[in-house]
Amino acid sequence: MAEAGSFADRVKQQADIVRVVGEYVRLKKSGQNFTGLCPFHGEKTPSFAVHPVKQIFHCFGCGKGGDVFSFVMEMEKCQFPEAVRIVAEKCGIAIPKPKERSPEERKENQQRAALVEMHREAQAFFVKQLESTAEGKAARAYLEDRGLNTEAIARFGIGYAPSGGDALLRYLKQKYAEKLLVESGLVSRDQQSGRLFDRFRRRITFAIANESGKVVAFGCRALGDDLPKYLNSPETPIYSKSNVLYHMDRAKDAIRRQDFAILVEGYMDAIAVARAGISNVVASCGTSLAEPQIKLLGRFTKRVIVNYDPDVAGQTATERSISLLLEQDFEVRVLALPAIGDKKADPDLFIKEKGAEAYVKALKESPPYVDYLIARARQMDLTTGEGKRRALNFLMPYLQKIPNGLLRSEWATRISQQLRIDEPVLRAALNKAATERRSEVKIQPELVGKSAKPIERRLIRMLMEAEEFRRELAQRLQQGGLYRGLETEKIFAALIVAALSDQPMQATEIGALLEERDHRMLFEILFEPTQEGTWEEAESCLEALRRRQIEQELAEVQRSIEANAAGPSLRELLTRKQELMKRLAAEH
Ligand SMILES: [Zn+2]
Repeated sequence: MAEAGSFADRVKQQADIVRVVGEYVRLKKSGQNFTGLCPFHGEKTPSFAVHPVKQIFHCFGCGKGGDVFSFVMEMEKCQFPEAVRIVAEKCGIAIPKPKERSPEERKENQQRAALVEMHREAQAFFVKQLESTAEGKAARAYLEDRGLNTEAIARFGIGYAPSGGDALLRYLKQKYAEKLLVESGLVSRDQQSGRLFDRFRRRITFAIANESGKVVAFGCRALGDDLPKYLNSPETPIYSKSNVLYHMDRAKDAIRRQDFAILVEGYMDAIAVARAGISNVVASCGTSLAEPQIKLLGRFTKRVIVNYDPDVAGQTATERSISLLLEQDFEVRVLALPAIGDKKADPDLFIKEKGAEAYVKALKESPPYVDYLIARARQMDLTTGEGKRRALNFLMPYLQKIPNGLLRSEWATRISQQLRIDEPVLRAALNKAATERRSEVKIQPELVGKSAKPIERRLIRMLMEAEEFRRELAQRLQQGGLYRGLETEKIFAALIVAALSDQPMQATEIGALLEERDHRMLFEILFEPTQEGTWEEAESCLEALRRRQIEQELAEVQRSIEANAAGPSLRELLTRKQELMKRLAAEH
């Protein structure tokens, strides 16, 4: 966990949990805390709280709780180091370069650095080809025809791969070994002759950058009728297509600021939308959206408008994306652009024909995904029972993913009206599906233990917070074994060890040592509004625990006396009883 002085510790000190959680959950100030709907279980009224001073969160519904890292680990389903990195990134804290552990690792890092450098040079090469060669001139004419002027070409780093077959190879060969050239994916090897040649020939090149803006791959469109129309870089040590979104490096600030992203299919669409002044647009690079891409996006927003092509492939891709986005708890809207004349409109064409303003208007009016899906279902044959069943089966998986029960119910009504499906039938199916979903986040009532007594709660708070006397308090509790037998015994045991170690008291780290039920109780206690504790108060709490201890022993002795009325140990028991009664009197 976050060791004192470590990078993780530094991030934790600087990160504001309210801001980080606020990127995932709509939070409202409520007293000293912030509250919102728990992202970990479905609920209609908020039982999720964030404590800005203690920098912890807790859900009074499902019992999840911890610090900023445990929150991110749970949300992003990632490990601790990844959570530290995400939080650091969200808070603009520079991440130190990881230490290279082995010679192999150093070699790999060097290779990656060389590949990035090679791509930078290839990018400069392609740009130059477009600018200043005869072949490039024809490519420029083509781009201009598509509405891309010199300014746009420069802004998006569009280039041209010449037809010769080895122009880039000859350029790069001076500096890089053959093996590395092949690994870059920019150069291919002919299987029969073993000869090297350029992968991209006679194509417009679009530079694909990673999140930090480094070119790591190219997407290339054929200039003529060559097939395939689009040819991309293969997977390489620096590029994995499911991890990269086109235009993400330039879009991320706007996405975070506006708290939504527009997802389009191709480079040309992303460029057209960005040129229209809407910079929060990314493209899935022609491939279907993959989970790592959604996670990448999810670091900046949880709201997406999907605007894919209106053809069958685009519709299928849209539906697949909706599913994946919902699984990652995104709020999804779908923009299906109206046809222009008899032409189906992609974003590029729409903006060209109707202008940026019309596109912004369409974005604003884009319906929630359920509306889109209902419209799709209505295109099915609904005249037969069989057809209706098919439409319902099409909708149900999506409907099932709506976490909010009230919303789900509203949609059920609308679907039954629009598809003319008997509402009770629909609801029965929906309830069944919803129950199946709920079972994943079942709340276990047995974990909600009896609440601890006020004295215990006060002492726990003081052990956590009273820096001046927590050590003394821990010692007194330990010496007398005063916490033994309490319902909160295990919490006390963990707190005492931590307090005596003179380390800062970290709720999350202590919580990690506890069973779920105790973890939950500790966090609930930490969220109670209270006054600062004093030593006098602590002493009176200790006194109460001592009394309780004596009273308990007294009760035991009394039981033994009654059970052993004629036994040999009666005298001893009676003596012990006298002692205890004296001590009890002295405590008052
Ligand atoms: Zn919860």
